[in-house]
Amino acid sequence: MAVHDYLRQRFMPHIWCPGCGNGIIMNNLIRAIEDLGMEKNDIVMITGIGCSARISGYLDFHTLHTIHGRALAFATGLKLARPELNVIVPMGDGDATAIGGNHFIHSARRNIDITSIIFNNSVYGMTGGQYSPLSGYGTKATTAPFGNIDQAFDIVQLAKGSGATFVARTTTYHVTSMVKIFKKAIMHKGFSVVEVLTQCPTYFGRKNKLGDAAAMMKSYKENTTPIASKAKGKRPELIERGVFVEKQRPEYCDEYMKIIKKVHKGQ
Ligand code: SF4
Repeated sequence: MAVHDYLRQRFMPHIWCPGCGNGIIMNNLIRAIEDLGMEKNDIVMITGIGCSARISGYLDFHTLHTIHGRALAFATGLKLARPELNVIVPMGDGDATAIGGNHFIHSARRNIDITSIIFNNSVYGMTGGQYSPLSGYGTKATTAPFGNIDQAFDIVQLAKGSGATFVARTTTYHVTSMVKIFKKAIMHKGFSVVEVLTQCPTYFGRKNKLGDAAAMMKSYKENTTPIASKAKGKRPELIERGVFVEKQRPEYCDEYMKIIKKVHKGQ
């Protein structure tokens, strides 16, 4: 199939700003799904609220556009009811780690077989540029005009600490590795977390004087490095990217099914 076969043309043009990284992530997600040869009918995409959440309207899978922060709660119910389906949950940084933070850590703890993708643009874009739990100390936002005093979560560490069995980070600059990471995350049995550093030139870029979309993407090239690279030794401030965790642990739906079978056997 061609890329446009995955798009709901009736919802085009999309609402994303020129230069927004959301389109890059959507494009690479389509390419990963195409490479894996997955049937559109076997995929359910569930989103909450935010600019990135509009992806569930644009992609032609089974889709649910739900409420803020609750995409993983809907996804958990759906996966338990239909464990044979591939469930993908794209979320913004605020959606995943503020109002949805509890759902995020508990999905990871349970190791339910869901692929979560966090579009980390460090800001609430759709509602006007408020700071998020991933904005970082000292950044500017509509709600932090004199500088943000909140420290940011490290998504990789949060996911690892919560028990996710696949954890990776990439950026909108590194499109080739993004496709590879998406493929691994989708194929992984268990809770997968992929953090994608992505640009919001309209709010985060403008408020923090980071330049246009191209300049922001260039900064991902210059300020990130593969895991355990020599560059990290020389410049500890570099952000590592790649696959941090890939391991097996009992999956939640499988465990639940074992109990159901046991109970039915005993009747
Ligand atoms: S506000 Fe930011 S995140 Fe939202 S569409 Fe525009 S550039 Fe993208």
